[in-house]
Amino acid sequence: EMPVEKHVFEADVAKLLHLMVHSVYSDKNVFLRELISNAADACEKLRYEAIVAPELLGSDAAPRIVLTLDEEKRRLIVEDNGIGMSRDELVESLGTIARSGTRAFMERIEAAQGKEGAQLIGQFGVGFYSVFMVADNVDVVSRRAGSDKAWHWASDGKGSYTVSAVEPADAPPRGTRITLHLKDDANIYTSRWTIERIVKEQSGHVPVPISIIEKPGAEASQIADGTALWTKQKSEISKEDYADFYRGVAGQYDEPALTVHFRAEGRHEYTALAFVPGSKPFDLFDPDRKGRMKLYVKRVFITDEAELLPRYLRFVRGLVDTADLPLNVSREMIQESPLLANIRKGLTNRILTSIEKLAEGDPEAFIKVWENFGSVLKEGIYEDFERRTQLLALSRFRTTASDEKKRALSDYMKDMKEGQTAIYYLTGDNLAQLEASPQLEGFRARGIEVLLLTDPVDSFWVTSAPEFEGKPFKSITQGAADLAGIAKQDAAAGAEASPSVAEFVTFAKATLGEAVSDVRTSERLTESAVCLVAPEHGPDRQLEKMLQGAGR
Ligand code: ADP
Ligand code: MG
Repeated sequence: EMPVEKHVFEADVAKLLHLMVHSVYSDKNVFLRELISNAADACEKLRYEAIVAPELLGSDAAPRIVLTLDEEKRRLIVEDNGIGMSRDELVESLGTIARSGTRAFMERIEAAQGKEGAQLIGQFGVGFYSVFMVADNVDVVSRRAGSDKAWHWASDGKGSYTVSAVEPADAPPRGTRITLHLKDDANIYTSRWTIERIVKEQSGHVPVPISIIEKPGAEASQIADGTALWTKQKSEISKEDYADFYRGVAGQYDEPALTVHFRAEGRHEYTALAFVPGSKPFDLFDPDRKGRMKLYVKRVFITDEAELLPRYLRFVRGLVDTADLPLNVSREMIQESPLLANIRKGLTNRILTSIEKLAEGDPEAFIKVWENFGSVLKEGIYEDFERRTQLLALSRFRTTASDEKKRALSDYMKDMKEGQTAIYYLTGDNLAQLEASPQLEGFRARGIEVLLLTDPVDSFWVTSAPEFEGKPFKSITQGAADLAGIAKQDAAAGAEASPSVAEFVTFAKATLGEAVSDVRTSERLTESAVCLVAPEHGPDRQLEKMLQGAGR
């Protein structure tokens, strides 16, 4: 008898499991997608390691995923011949939550009400633990490629799991076998028809062939051929094919908002298939978050850590496949390769032009993309000098002239007043606060539009920049307002500064002393008596507040 170690799940796993089991989420089929995607990942990891260690493949080089159904024993078995897991990897991967996105997801789900929380489960991948939606006991038997030791992980998903060594004869020669002991009401997952339908719907495009064995001892028959979708002609690929593939590669369960698929030819050749997600991924602002574009070389997955896109496009999911790198390319070599720089440039251009086309052709769809990712795209305004104008042109803003709809800078430029020399903006924490600002009075009186900027990132790009079509951006809380040359719309106002005002200014300067750098009359106000403004140069008021908040 092999000794059995008992482990308690990490607290977050226990919480997640509780959510899974008690969820009212009805589409439990997603567990199969999670298992198949893990199996495919494991095959891809093996293919990659085998580039330098071909002996890992032995005589069994072709990757595969096999689903075995057993109606009598009410079991479903998912087996792959991928990389497998060592004992430590089993404990690490199936006892903790390694993904940063999952934590963010759990915070959201805990904050949400029951039903809404359940929808979140459906919308976002929740990984291996989703098996406990349909199984009351799960056995994982795994053998790491190249190892003669095999391990057995078992759990009922109720707080603890066990790990023990198993006789190699009872384990796959390489890879992982996951046996689900299905719940009473999950018997449908032993039906061939059901499984075949679900696999075609959810996982038809994983790059590893999938077969099914209808009952123990029966022949395996293939239900998905493992051809890489991106190698097909665009005309052969349906919208559903793309959406299905997107869900697999992005780990999201929604529809892509935008699909970009192209083959670059010329000095460097590569194929790219990239998606803008239809909703916001949970880890969008996670500082540790890597990009999510995968790099393939001749259909072999190499890494998802090559920086194939600039940071401000980190919400884009997908892959690039090229034949122009050697298979055994090291990750350091990739970063330095001129090909990578070329791909980054080409891919960034294609994605931005596709977003531009969406903005022109389908403004409603575009505005959804903007709501989800505008605050990330705007980082590009100060990070990517070359594309600054392009990104500014894509940007949409709340302004003093916008009602429900946000406005583009081209709208702003069209409505500029005669004599207006700048694009004016006001930054702050929220719209209501901005709209109530006395700083706006003089601008409103003259019908001058002011951008109302409430994203934290706004305070950064406005200071870095910029100008747009020859007009500088100018904070209305900063420096002199230059409004004198523009006529007020209600002509009655506009009394010149009288001697008593000058007297007041002298008095205020003397009283306030060092507390202010200057006191002056202003065109900014029409009703309020005074307001604070920042000096012409240096951070504007909102940025100043943010920097103070950050403890600087
Ligand atoms: P994710 O796939 O996003 O990392 P999962 O919860 O689906 O999250 O899986 C957790 C981890 O367990 C994987 O990252 C992987 O290391 C490991 N794992 C799961 N299934 C397999 C498998 N079939 N073969 C090898 N490793 C696996
Ligand atoms: Mg997974």
